[in-house]
This record gives sequence, C-alpha cells and structure tokens, in this order.
Amino acid sequence: MPAVLRVALPVPLPTLFDYLPPAAGEARPGCRVLVPFGRGKQIGVVVAVEAETTLGGNRLKQVIRLLDDTPLLDAELMQTLAWAADYWLGAPGEAYANALPLALREAKPLPALGEEYWSLSVAGQSAHDAGSRRGGSKALLALLASGPMRAQELSERLPGWRAAARRLADTGLLERSERPPLNATPPASLAPRLSDEQQQAVATVATSLGQYQPFLLDGVTGSGKTEVYLALIEQVLAQRRQALLLVPEIGLAPQTVRRLRERLGVAVEVLHSNLSEGDRARAWLRARNGSARVILGTRSAVFTPLPQAGLIIVDEEHDSAYKQQEGFRYHARDLALVRARALGVPVLLGSGTPSLESLANAEAGRYRSLHLRARPGAIRPPQVQIIDMRAQRLEHGMSPALLAAIGETVARGEQALVFRNRRGYAPVLLCHSCGWHADCPRCDRPLTVHAGRRQLRCHHCDYRSRMPDACPSCGAGDLKPQGQGTERLEEALTAQFPQVPVLRVDRETTRRRDAFEQLLATLRDDQPAILVGTQMLAKGHDLPNLTLVAIVGVDEGLHSVDFRAGERLAQLVVQVAGRAGRARKPGRVLLQTHQPEHPLLRSLLAQGYAAAARDLLAERRQIQLPPCSHQVLLRADAVQREHVDAFLADAHAALPPDYPVQIAGPMPAPMPLRAGRQRGQLLLEAASRQTLHAMLRSWQLALLALPSARRVRWSLDVDPIDLY
Ligand code: ADP
Ligand code: ZN
Ligand code: ZN
Repeated sequence: MPAVLRVALPVPLPTLFDYLPPAAGEARPGCRVLVPFGRGKQIGVVVAVEAETTLGGNRLKQVIRLLDDTPLLDAELMQTLAWAADYWLGAPGEAYANALPLALREAKPLPALGEEYWSLSVAGQSAHDAGSRRGGSKALLALLASGPMRAQELSERLPGWRAAARRLADTGLLERSERPPLNATPPASLAPRLSDEQQQAVATVATSLGQYQPFLLDGVTGSGKTEVYLALIEQVLAQRRQALLLVPEIGLAPQTVRRLRERLGVAVEVLHSNLSEGDRARAWLRARNGSARVILGTRSAVFTPLPQAGLIIVDEEHDSAYKQQEGFRYHARDLALVRARALGVPVLLGSGTPSLESLANAEAGRYRSLHLRARPGAIRPPQVQIIDMRAQRLEHGMSPALLAAIGETVARGEQALVFRNRRGYAPVLLCHSCGWHADCPRCDRPLTVHAGRRQLRCHHCDYRSRMPDACPSCGAGDLKPQGQGTERLEEALTAQFPQVPVLRVDRETTRRRDAFEQLLATLRDDQPAILVGTQMLAKGHDLPNLTLVAIVGVDEGLHSVDFRAGERLAQLVVQVAGRAGRARKPGRVLLQTHQPEHPLLRSLLAQGYAAAARDLLAERRQIQLPPCSHQVLLRADAVQREHVDAFLADAHAALPPDYPVQIAGPMPAPMPLRAGRQRGQLLLEAASRQTLHAMLRSWQLALLALPSARRVRWSLDVDPIDLY
C-alpha cells in the first residue's frame, strides 16, 4: 500500500490535502513539494506521512516533484506552526505562508548563502574622488568609499540602493562579490558596568538558560533594559547558541541594531519589511543552518528557525504591532512563548508599560517578574502635572499655562515636545450657519481637514476631496475647522514662537522609512526646538536636550467604547512622558485635560503605571473581560446590510445549543460603515479558554458551508485586541 502525504497548501481552507508520494525521493514532514492543484500547480509543505486513508489512494493525485532532500522546516517549527494554525483558526497553509519567506515558496533551488558584498572598483574610487556623480549614485559611492559593505547593511543605510548599484556596476564602477560571512569581528564597544538591578535581572534569567521559563522585565524607557538584553545575548553566544530579539517596529530601532553589532562582534541578521525577498530568504536560511547567531526582527521574525536556540526576547511586549490584524491573525508575543516552550529556552518580555495580559500572567506566577526602577544617569524621574482645561481661554487648543511652560523651556535653550494623537489640521469641518459638517460618504464619519493641501481626508478609508469654499448645504461661507490636529498645532506654535524651529513628526511628514530619524537628526542637542507630533514621537532616538513634554488632549481615550482604551492611554502617556529629561537635565510633563478628576489619570500620575495597571486589571476581573476571560470575534462585511445580517444570524444559529459561552450580537460593528461596506459582528466570550476553543473549529467549518457566507467577507479573530 502506498503512503499518503498530507500537505499544507497556501489556500484559505482549514484543511490539509492528500497526495501520493513523488516518483523520486523521500518526502518527509517539513519538505516542500510541487503538486497539481485545480488547474494549476502549488507549492506545499508535507505535514505528515500516513498509511493509505480509507478514501482510496487511486483517486489521489501524485506529487509532481519533491523540492527538498532534507526538511526545510524542522520538527519544532512544524509543531509550532500546527499549534498556531489551530489556535488562531488559520488555514494550515496560511501559517506556512507566514513562516516561509516568499522566495522559498517558489519552485527554485535555495539561494546561495554567501554574504553579498559590494565594493568600489579602482574606477569607482576615482569617480568618488572626482565627485562626478549625483543623487543615489553619489551617496552609494560615498558609502562604499570606506570599504566593502554587506548588501543588508546597504539596504538599511540607503533604501533603494540597488537601482544605483546596477547602474554603477554596468559602467564598471562597482563590484559585487560573495564571501563567507565574517564570523568573529572583535566587539567595537564595551559594556557599561551594570547596576545592581541590571545584574540581578541578568543573573536571574541566566540561571534559566537551557530551560523554558518566561520572564517579564518591567522598566521604563531608558532604565537599561537593552543593556540587560545585551548581557544575556553575550552569555547565549558564549554557549554557542542563538538569540532572537523581536521589536515592534524596525524603522525606529536603527540605534538598537547599531548597538548590537558594535557590542556583540558577530553578524546580526535583521529581518524587516523593507528587505528584498532574496535577502529575507538568505537571512532565514542562515538562521536555519546556524550561521546567524543573533536575529533581530519584527512580528514575522517569530517564525525564524532556531536550531540552536538559547533565548527569545520580546521588546515592548505590550505593543499592538505584534498582533497581525488580517489574514492569519496570530500574536507574535504569544507565539514567542509557545516557541520558547517547545525549544526549552527562556523567553524575556520587556516593557516599561506591560500589557495587562502579561501582568496577569505574572500575578498568577506563570511569569517571573524582574524590575528596573532606577534610570542610569538620570537625575530624577520627570515631574508630572495636570492642567485643567475647563474655563480656560485656549489658543488653538493650548492653555496659557501650557504655552508659558513651552516659552520658558525654549528661552532656556531647551526643547519641548507637544504630543497630540491626531494628524491633519482639524478633525471636523463645521458650518457655523447651519450646523452641517463634512462626513466621509463611504464611512459616515467626519472628514479631517488637511489645510496644507486644502483637502478633506477620511482617516478610515483614505477618501479625499477638495476643501469646499462654501457650505454645500446652505451656501454660507462660514466653514470652521473644529478641534486640533498636529498640523494646526504646528501652525499655532510657529506663530507663537517665530524664532524657534518647530518640527512636525507624523505619518505625513515621515512617509519614507528613514525620514523620521533624518528629521530628528536636524535637531541640535544644544539648541532650542519644539517638536509636535503623534505617537511616533513616543519612540525613536534619545533627545538629551528635551526637558518638557506637553500632552494636549487625551480625553478621547477616556470615553472610548473599546475596553482596552484606558490601558492604551496609560501606556501612551507613560511612553511619551518618558521622553522628557533622559540625560543630565530634569524633565517636566504637562497633561492637559477636561477631566482632571478622572480616576485613571489620577492614579497614573499619583502612583505611576504599575498602580494604574493594577486598578485596570481589577476592573477587568470584576466585569470579566480579557485577560480574565477569552474572546473570539466574528466579523463580516458586505455592500448590503441584509447580507451581513443574514450571515451573522445563520452563524449565530450554527453555534452549539446551550453551550456555555456568552454571546454578544449579532450587532453592527462599532464603525457600522467603512469604505462603503456595511459591517457587523458577533462576539463570543468564555471564562475558560478550553471551553471556547473546543467548539471553534467545528463552528468555523459550519460557517464555511453556509450559503450566506458567500455573500459577505468574514473572518474569525481569536483573542482580538481591537473590537473595531
Ligand atoms: P532601555 O532599553 O530600557 O530604554 P537602555 O538600555 O537603552 O534602556 O539604556 C538607556 C541609556 O542608559 C543608554 O544610553 C545606555 O547606554 C545607558 N545605560 C544603561 N545601563 C547603563 C549602566 N549600567 N551604566 C551606564 N549607562 C547605562
Ligand atoms: Zn451651512
Ligand atoms: Zn471613509
């Protein structure tokens, strides 16, 4: 009897597909195979090899070709992916598609693993000396003038360099070569003497090397967490093991990359979204063959093979960027824990503002807590003060006290940061004669005024229209922008402080990946300046001359319908406030609000994040919300509301009767219309994860079979972090 191969294919169906083994070669689990599928071909991963099923082997098709002699995915990764697909209700093939770099999902030989280097030829050196080139070519020649450079490093330093490299190579100015990866280059920088707290954290984690144990390292930005990571990675490297460091966003971490490279003296693989597919595949394969010792990456790097794993670190573990919000909706932090367990290594979660999920796990004793309370080098923590906005004459949303504090700061030659989490000029355009306001026709939500481009834009679906000169409803010319966005604050501050540079940092001013760092680089450490921006300002490199943080308007977060809004607000306030007074100068934080008595703000300011988080967690426990209960959200959308309603009603009816889960809905989504599509949802909640998960797969299969499912777009989100 021939064996049957169970294969995961990149199609959105929650099943495996059976094939007969190929004519040549032994297809083992973890090997890729080329198979016939429908009218075409697909590349799949063998998940299991079984004796013939009762279905009858003669009806099965045969694998066209085996692509790997040895499994590309090892047993641990296979097991973790199967677990992840099951837990987050993904199709098995989708999980593999997330784990494998695109270039490895093609029927091509694996790329060669030598490092790709670029260098100047003699002619290139003269061209550089003569300064005969312009633009990207000139920049590339300048970068290479100091010596050969790895392609990956070029991608980080000069995005889009390949076009210039091709031009210059064609004219003989550049040379490409492949050399084996440089192994031990001596570290260029020395570690500082660790503080007692840092030493203790390192020692505690170090005693767990070689076994599974989660740790939660709680320390504000600047408290020295990265030094703890570095010391532990050094130990892991000394044991000839690999370390994986996850960060929420790479664009904001070039400093970390530099620090790792300079300190560790080994090649650091960086996996991020701007990498070319070839480079990504090579980095993944170098991790797989063990030549990559330290891997730094964003969410999807959690799927990197780690045959000699020693430690996994998740920095800023509370960050929502770790959750994939479409397709295969996994959470990289949670998956990091699953992998650490399977690999038998410690996992270190770091944050200045830990998520309530992780705090609950620490309280329950599942994680061991580590704290860094003191900031090395800082004089003292910033002073935080509330400004009551009620009954104040506001200048574009800013109170006299706030403006005075900014004035004093810049007069001292120091820098101030004004934080407002809304881009654009104003969130609403209102007619003062008749009360009309501009709404997005596709979302039913107010359009944001973008004054610089004289445009109205929808921040939900990106609909754009020209700003009208007169009211489309009554014809009056009395249209007034209501409220403030960063663009308006920039304008007001420029008018108020004409002698000081005002820098705006938001998605519009930093469209390019490195624009943010470049913008900050224009700041001189010894000069006054005012920074205005959104939450992008909460991160990024150290600003030693920044001594005032002014938080303008966070009140939206105090009465949002999302139960996580309070937690997010507390995290954001603490992260932004942490930008003040990081070096030798003491910092000051002003928080302007209409609700100075709000209990969350009170406890946050009086007692800090840990106390506020404890209160929030107690509240969640009382009303049985995550992490004290577990949720699954079924979302559906369609052009016609009836189709959404019909599907959700059928989905509701398909639930097992008298099952011990709470059901909320079917109901319209908090945003019932978006980008022209009607949206609805059904929320399931249970005290026990097992209870909830026990019925999910069969329910999902029932949903797939519903005729009404074909008239909507729908998805299941396990542990949703966003109820929109
Ligand atoms: P975090 O990762 O928590 O934001 P970092 O590790 O980046 O903190 O440390 C913040 C700053 O303090 C960095 O400039 C770092 O070099 C410095 N630093 C950290 N630990 C020490 C120490 N033990 N002695 C001196 N400087 C330190
Ligand atoms: Zn009007
Ligand atoms: Zn819209």
